[in-house]
Amino acid sequence: MNSEEYKRVCARISLDAIRSNYEGIKQIIRDNTKIMAVLKTDGYGHGAVPIARELEPDEKLYGFALATAEEALILRNSGIRKPLLVLGYTFPDAYEELILKDISFTVFREDMLKDLCEVVRNLSSTEYRYRAKVHIKIDTGMGRIGVKPDDSGLAFVKEVLSHEELFVEGVFTHFAKADEKERTATEKQLSLFTDFTDRIRDELHYEIPIRHASNSAGILAYPEANLDVVRAGIILYGLWPSDEVPKDRIALKPALSLYSRIIYLKEIEPGDAVSYGGTYVAKSPRRVATISIGYGEGYPRALSGTADVLIGGRRCRILGRICMDQLMADVTDVPGVAMGDRVTLIGTDGAETISMEELGSLSGRFNYEMACDLGKRIPRIFIRHNEVVYAKDYHQDLDLI
Ligand SMILES: *Cc1c(COP(=O)(O)O)cnc(C)c1O
Repeated sequence: MNSEEYKRVCARISLDAIRSNYEGIKQIIRDNTKIMAVLKTDGYGHGAVPIARELEPDEKLYGFALATAEEALILRNSGIRKPLLVLGYTFPDAYEELILKDISFTVFREDMLKDLCEVVRNLSSTEYRYRAKVHIKIDTGMGRIGVKPDDSGLAFVKEVLSHEELFVEGVFTHFAKADEKERTATEKQLSLFTDFTDRIRDELHYEIPIRHASNSAGILAYPEANLDVVRAGIILYGLWPSDEVPKDRIALKPALSLYSRIIYLKEIEPGDAVSYGGTYVAKSPRRVATISIGYGEGYPRALSGTADVLIGGRRCRILGRICMDQLMADVTDVPGVAMGDRVTLIGTDGAETISMEELGSLSGRFNYEMACDLGKRIPRIFIRHNEVVYAKDYHQDLDLI
């Protein structure tokens, strides 16, 4: 598959960059800590399956974390064998399939335990007894999901352990502020968590195999929170969790670049307006390029008139409102510009770079959201050693029935 096939718009995902970020994470975590690569929202908009295939063989790679049952099934059905954990609540209609496919659940609700046990009993026969693998979620301060690290939480853990239909594979918590300079809150969360897992060991006499707490920010700023596994999300893609994390411990390479093409060029005169609402009016003669990408691709309309694109190694300002399928940019200062020229919306062209962080903050999003929102109309091309090794065109699998 040739990336030139995708002329209108395309995202290039460098598997070399992902590999390099992954190796960087390996360098800074403890020898006996493993990595759970977080591939939710289709790998933060990058494409989960090829990334999972790239990382799966590494012995430091424990497995993958997803947000939903559907995301986990996509990886399992693509041939991924390593552990898969659904980080959020899983609705009962998915239990049977997930148990059959050996996908692990996050548990924190009593009713979930009952429902899981019932499905396990129904599936099991005298020849084969199934078990549902679970990770117990502890809320040490995120205030989202999880049982409290107190007596009530301990009673929940005890109950989980009492069901032979369940196998407690892990226990974990999630940091709310590990990406901030102020350390007290995260230190408190970590000590609440480790004190609680000590109580499980001492009072319930059970050593839960895998304790995990750190997200990307935790990996960068809290080596003491490595524990058995770390959950690496945003840094795997070469993006920073925030501006406040230490950036000297790892050299991140952004994996995604976003390209489009100039589909039309014209000269406009002073007084001429561009795009819906005529919010841009030329003050001097301008050369304007129309580019075949818009908010239909998830390129935020909030960037209208404020963001740049790169053409011929130069920054060109977007003029007027971004449309659903097209946007216009000022190419007056780009020598030799021509229809068909490549436009870089995210990435590097010559000496200029536009980062996910830049567009995320200009659009009132942040880099995570900017990446996740890149739409299904953008084909993803995966590159290893300068060669296209995989391409994903979402137009080909949008049907549900
Ligand atoms: C998304 C998520 C992560 C990964 O977070 P990053 O900041 O991208 O590393 C880890 N753990 C949980 C529970 C998550 O929801």
